[in-house]
Order: sequence, then C-alpha cells, then structure tokens
Amino acid sequence: MSSPKLLSPYRRKFQWLTSLAILLIPWIQPGGISLLRIDVPTLSLQLFGQVLRIEELFLFLLFCLAFGISFLLITLVSGRVWCGWACPQTTLNDLAEWFAGKMKLRIVGNRLQGGLWRKALAQLFYLALAALVAANLLWYFIAPQRFLAELITAELHTGVMLTFVVLALLIYLDLAFVRRLMCKEFCPYGRIQTSLVDPGTLTLHLPESEQERCIRCNSCVRSCPMEIDIRDGYQVECINCGRCLDACRSVMHKRQQPGLIHYTFGVDNLGPKALLNLRTLLLSLALVVLLTLLGVAIVNRPQATLKIAVSHTAGSRLLKDGQQATFFNAWLNNRTTEHATYRLTARGSDGAALTIKGQTTDLKLQGGENRKLDFVLVSPAVRQPTMIEFVLFDQLQRELDLAAAQLTPVAATKED
Ligand code: SF4
Ligand code: SF4
Repeated sequence: MSSPKLLSPYRRKFQWLTSLAILLIPWIQPGGISLLRIDVPTLSLQLFGQVLRIEELFLFLLFCLAFGISFLLITLVSGRVWCGWACPQTTLNDLAEWFAGKMKLRIVGNRLQGGLWRKALAQLFYLALAALVAANLLWYFIAPQRFLAELITAELHTGVMLTFVVLALLIYLDLAFVRRLMCKEFCPYGRIQTSLVDPGTLTLHLPESEQERCIRCNSCVRSCPMEIDIRDGYQVECINCGRCLDACRSVMHKRQQPGLIHYTFGVDNLGPKALLNLRTLLLSLALVVLLTLLGVAIVNRPQATLKIAVSHTAGSRLLKDGQQATFFNAWLNNRTTEHATYRLTARGSDGAALTIKGQTTDLKLQGGENRKLDFVLVSPAVRQPTMIEFVLFDQLQRELDLAAAQLTPVAATKED
C-alpha cells in the first residue's frame, strides 16, 4: 500500500530553511555590509548592501511600517500558518521535544519525565540551544565576528554581556518550562491574529460534511502540540501546523479513505477569491506604496551628506586686513560602501568663492564613514547676518550635497 501524503516533511524542511536563514543572515555580508543588522556601534541600519544612518529616520520608519504591514497581510491571508510553520518559538519547541524523545523522556504537564541523567542531558542541550539563540539575536545588532571575538577574549561590553546572559536565561526557561504555553497564553501575535481573521483566511478544520466519517480514534488530538480538539471547530490557539491533518490522513489511509481534516479558505471553504476583500486589498496597496517609497528613497539618497554648524568653542573675529574669520564644524558621511575622496568649498550669497583654511580637500573617507572636520572660513566682514553655502564635491567634481550657514557681524573690538 502506498504511504499517505503528509505535510510534516515539508513543514520540517521549511522550518530548517527559516531557522538557517535566521542564523546565517547576520553572517552574509557582501561588500562588508550585512543583509540585515541594526548596527548599534555605528547607529545605522544595514539593509541589503545599504547603510542607513540613524539621521535617516524616515527610512527606518518606512522599513518598520513595511515590515509590520507584511506581517498583517500574511496573517490575514494565512492565519497562524507563520506560527506553525516558521515561528522560531515553534521550531525551538519542536527541537526541544525531538531531543526529549531521543533521550526517551516524556513531557507531561510541561514537565520532563524520565531518568535523572537523561533529564540532566536534556537540560544541558536546552542551555546550549538557548545560548546559541541569544547570540544569534544579538548578531542582528553587533557583527557576529566581533561578538564572538570579544566573547572569547572576555572583552564584550558589560551591557552586551548582561543582555546575552539574560536573553539566554529567558530562552532556556522558555524551552525547559514554558514551552507551548507561550503560544497559548502569552504571545501577543496570537492575540492580534484573532482580530485579523477574515471569513476567507486560510484555516484548518474538520468540515461538517466529513464528520460522519470520523471513527473517534483521537489521533488528531494526541498529535496536537497545543492540546486542541480540532473536531470542536476553529480555536484561536490553533497554530495551523497541520499535525492533526497528517495524523488523520495516516489513520484513514489504512482504511483506504482520504483524511477528514483540510486546509480551507475560511471554515466555509469560500475559496481563494474570498481573500479579495477590502482589507486585503488596502493592506496590499499600502505595502506596495511603502516598498516603492522605500526603494525610491534609497536609490535617490545622496551618496554623501554634509552638515555644517558655526563652532561654539571658537568665536568669530576680525582680521587685520578687514576680513572676518569664522570657525565652523562640519560632519561628512560617506553613504556608499566604497572609499571616496571629497572636497569642500564655500561660496557667498553672490556666488563668489570664499576661502577655507583647514583640511577641506582630498578628504578620504571609507565606505559608511562619518567624520567631523574643523575649519576656518575667511570672508569679507559682514554688517548684517548673511547666508553662505558650503558645497561637497566628489573626486569626479560632482556636487553631492549643500549646506547653508549664517555669518554674523563681528564687533570691531575683537579685531585680531
Ligand atoms: S489543531 Fe491541528 S493545526 Fe491546530 S495546532 Fe493542533 S495539530 Fe496543529
Ligand atoms: S484523526 Fe480523523 S478520524 Fe481520528 S478522531 Fe481525528 S478526525 Fe476523527
């Protein structure tokens, strides 16, 4: 007899793939830029080869909004499929249960039951897993190479070390004691999901038309990690994992009948067209608009930026030749991932070039580097507040950014 068509091999592969992706993304760094990292040391977001600095807050906001809306849309379409098929919490629990099974331990009432040394081994495994997951989480904020090097040489910042230990401890407690209770009782996503379910949302249930074929074997209930009886209808705790579907298919296969439990669009099996409703369309539209805005904003952002401010520590003064010297601070940011050379110039309101004293030419900045410059601007003395402009050029003499500043009159007694 052929074997029944089960979903568990696909689910397991998908879980492996998502877990590997989560583990490896911080390590993938084309051109030295991570695919995704909120880099705390440099206060920047590394996103698919782009470095977005904290000053570019609107890009951060667009990214977070697009991420949030994608999640809402996935939930609206596929219910808690994320929980059952991709959520790291479910994958970790599956792994913890798999290891307990290998150790010939049973989990009864959320407690491990079995021999003492087997339980000790399981706890050690949970601890190691918790440490790996905690480190993996931190790699989304600190480069993994740096994190591991500083961990090994005991040079990790105290705050980072403390976060690592607390995270590892919390994850260990989750794996060893909380387990599926997290999905049932505490996970906020599970609660939000209830308000997002539509009549057409993908769900898993036992249709009324199939109920008379049920042989009351209870395999579906025994296989359920959330201790749900799917025969009682839709329940918010259901994570759409499909284990009950597999259990039922296996049982009914022996009787040469198809399984009774199915994935359907809504409990009334309205078909995928039911998803073409106002909520899904609005969310899809919002997502497309946000992604387009984000893409356009990233592509069109200047390759380098310039910020200028009059120095607060050195006052302006009149020179013997009647000119005025004004001290400035400038901040340059190379937003590309490549080395670049820049030049800074100044011009008056009439467009005439002004003299800058200090190193403002041949400025070599590494990719992503942010540098502060101090310089003096020598200009004809002004009698009233006057706007001037600073212009940043690259090595190809292309104008990259402009910054305006105000020159204020200097009292004649300060003559130098
Ligand atoms: S009812 Fe079925 S799909 Fe839902 S959590 Fe239980 S086994 Fe998974
Ligand atoms: S596994 Fe299928 S046949 Fe057995 S109790 Fe559940 S729904 Fe009925």
